[in-house]
Amino acid sequence: MKLKKEIKTFCKNCNKHTTHSVNNYSKKPERWMNVGKRRHERAIKGYVGSVEPKVHPKKLGKKQKTILTCTVCKKSSERVFGRRTKKKIEIKR
Ligand SMILES: [Zn+2]
Repeated sequence: MKLKKEIKTFCKNCNKHTTHSVNNYSKKPERWMNVGKRRHERAIKGYVGSVEPKVHPKKLGKKQKTILTCTVCKKSSERVFGRRTKKKIEIKR
């Protein structure tokens, strides 16, 4: 999927349509003690080895997230264009 470098869309903070710059989403490092980690540690408490994880059905591709940053107020928000795909989003420079 190809996207333009800048798009005009609604900004929650400005409460009107403004130009936003489009950037690829990159995963941030995991927090030290998030809810899932605490739950997992509680589950394996008392066992020596590891507990088998839940088996989830395999999804076809991922939702390609993008970060939209408002050029007026500099606030950023996440947006998913399209649906689950294996293709990466291309941003035209
Ligand atoms: Zn704004």
